[in-house]
Amino acid sequence: MGVRGMFKNLGGQGAEPISVPDAEAAARKISKVDAKERLEMLDAFEAAGIAWLWATDPEGNLIYLSDSAVETFDDKRPVIGEPLGKLIETVCETESEGRTRPLSFLLSSRTSFVEQPVRVIEPQEGRASEDSETWWALTGKPQYDAKENFLGYRGSAKDITAVYQDQRDSSRMAEYDSLTGLANRHRMTRRLTAILNAYKVEKRSCALLMLDLDRFKQVNDTLGHPAGDELLRQVSQRLQRIVPEGSEIGRLGGDEFQIMIPDMDDRGDLGELSNRIISMISQPYSIEGSRAIIGTSIGVAIAPYDGIEPNELIKATDLALYAAKGGGRGQFRFYSNDLKETAEDRREIEEDLRDALVRGELEMHYQPVVDAKTHIVRGFEALMRWEHPVHGAVSPGIFIPIAEDSNLIDELGAWALRQACEDAGSWPSDLTVSVNVSAQQFVSDNLPSVVQSALQTSGLNPDQLELEITESVFMGDVEATDAMFKTLSKLGVKLALDDFGTGYSSLAYLRRAPFDKIKIDQSFVRGCTEDDNSNAAIITAIVSLARAMDMVTTAEGVEALDELDKIAALDADMVQGFIFSRAVPQADVLAKLEAGELKYEPIGPAKSRADRRTLFRRISVIHENHHYTVMLRDLSRTGARIEGLVDVPVGTQLVLDLGEGQLVVCTVMRSQDATQGLSFETSLVTDGAGGLCTRHRVSPYMLASAGMPLQALPPGNYKMPTRDSGPDSTPRFMQVDVSAGSSRAR
Ligand code: C2E
Ligand code: MG
Ligand code: MG
Repeated sequence: MGVRGMFKNLGGQGAEPISVPDAEAAARKISKVDAKERLEMLDAFEAAGIAWLWATDPEGNLIYLSDSAVETFDDKRPVIGEPLGKLIETVCETESEGRTRPLSFLLSSRTSFVEQPVRVIEPQEGRASEDSETWWALTGKPQYDAKENFLGYRGSAKDITAVYQDQRDSSRMAEYDSLTGLANRHRMTRRLTAILNAYKVEKRSCALLMLDLDRFKQVNDTLGHPAGDELLRQVSQRLQRIVPEGSEIGRLGGDEFQIMIPDMDDRGDLGELSNRIISMISQPYSIEGSRAIIGTSIGVAIAPYDGIEPNELIKATDLALYAAKGGGRGQFRFYSNDLKETAEDRREIEEDLRDALVRGELEMHYQPVVDAKTHIVRGFEALMRWEHPVHGAVSPGIFIPIAEDSNLIDELGAWALRQACEDAGSWPSDLTVSVNVSAQQFVSDNLPSVVQSALQTSGLNPDQLELEITESVFMGDVEATDAMFKTLSKLGVKLALDDFGTGYSSLAYLRRAPFDKIKIDQSFVRGCTEDDNSNAAIITAIVSLARAMDMVTTAEGVEALDELDKIAALDADMVQGFIFSRAVPQADVLAKLEAGELKYEPIGPAKSRADRRTLFRRISVIHENHHYTVMLRDLSRTGARIEGLVDVPVGTQLVLDLGEGQLVVCTVMRSQDATQGLSFETSLVTDGAGGLCTRHRVSPYMLASAGMPLQALPPGNYKMPTRDSGPDSTPRFMQVDVSAGSSRAR
């Protein structure tokens, strides 16, 4: 059977005028019986490319296809006689992301279809890129004979590739970020909403991470926007390599990224992943021949624990991110209920900081830097102090980053320089004053003139002033940084590299800038007396490096006598730490200097304490369905010390309720009077803020099935619905009241 027999029933749709050879014939009505002319018209219709015609036999094999359509297939490929389903496939309309389905579904149901978009299947799978795909709109109608026997399909088709790709591109634009190819905010919100809605029913969890790049703005400002764009692209590539399968990454705009990880609620794993992301993002970038270093802060929240609805969960990650940034950058933080308060405090601090200077709430204090061997003072580090009228003393670790974010740092920094120079002006001329200069001040063109005017006004010798700079100044524009170092050196001031070892410590930095001093960060001093870590070896390396480059070293944060001995043995030149003195007001410095007391006596604990956190916190302990209140004294990853229960036998199993759904199963290992040493069944994990938390929490789904409303975990402690839930049983142990004051003070 040929084309002529098959298209008896085709209803002409008459789109464009068809060119018929004989114009006269066109003017004449073609009669239904005038078979020849009708066939000529069909031929012309096909040839004009308005649409193609096709037909299948009852088995679905193609028995006819317009020649021009056959030509669109690969030359050597058989077309006529092949099952239609092998040549084209349908696409799932709802997920326009390439999910295809065989056409046979459609054909076997023997229904009519109109303008169904289909994709031409390439002979070798995976060969074609999306851009070389061919798309048709397929119309078809099943045919039956007089006895209702199925004869196959007859239909038409047309090429819609251009339209389809246009549509796909524009829907992609609406869903994806054009710079990085990651999902955009719109898509992330849509996906999160869909997933959380489904997971609520299926009682599944989903983690959400919010990332904000640290110091991105600086790179963008110094290296230019194209470099900033390139940096964002590289960040997105690094993220794609590290996230678990099934995650979706989005760029929400600017330097904000979001990662959604379905079926993830283990805070141990999430903490490790966050740390991996932080260290991966912090590796240097090479951009158009320049080197850039940025960091990232991460906020983490998990559904259903921290939020059930998308907005609630997003808000929780925002707060966690805010806290991570406030905690000093380059950190992650899990959401917890008390962050709400912290965020409000931070906003308040930012507002109050604007007035703090005018209201005279800021003061410079001075911490002695002493010779490691003789303990004679060599100078002082100027540290800013803020006495907030309501909150009391606010740590510079908190307000300096806020000042940097809100562009107040230039003003505060200039004031600190002036004040420190003025105060140091009345010290003996062989004592230096070290002033911290934030990386943001360093990129400001004003810095040299601010330094110069502080020196002039105070009459201080330039070589009595030392500027403490951290490694973060090196991520900016290389030329501008080098020029700034030159200008400062010309002024005759000294330069110290602060917190060495905490950033991306590169020898190249040491060579590039004329540093007089390296300050070894206190994280290396802590633990340098213990055998099982490499801190002592690192200090030795830094000291010999400095010596080779004609620089001196100061070890920061020395607190215990054994640390002091070790630091002296490792040959650091100078020491700064609570063991000699905290930072004190100028009046105290003057009093000491006038009394001629240049030598400091070390006063401190004999040994540095292991990294155990001493806590005085009331918590709840559950034993046999009875809740007791005890004082938590010590908490480590693997155990705790509690006080408040008398006569608890060794071996007793208890459950600690650390609040907000954190339950810890533990065994009593030691018991004396009202104090017990406990060993945890499952170790705690780090919460990113130097604290500890449980890997898992009580699930809000479980609480809901026990009759509570389905909601994120509320603050505080709550009675857990246990399997044998009943009223509080009779207490086995006697509870005594231990106040926080009765324990050893810190
Ligand atoms: P930094 O420059 O590394 O200063 C040393 C910090 O370590 C000070 O904290 C100091 O009080 C603390 N410290 C000294 N000895 C010990 C010790 O034995 N044990 C412990 N645990 N800590 C010790 P502080 O005053 O809270 O300042 C924190 C950071 O804030 C400083 O770190 C510095 O980066 C910044 N900062 C302080 N004042 C200024 C300022 O005037 N301008 C700028 N830009 N930053 C400042
Ligand atoms: Mg410092
Ligand atoms: Mg430091």
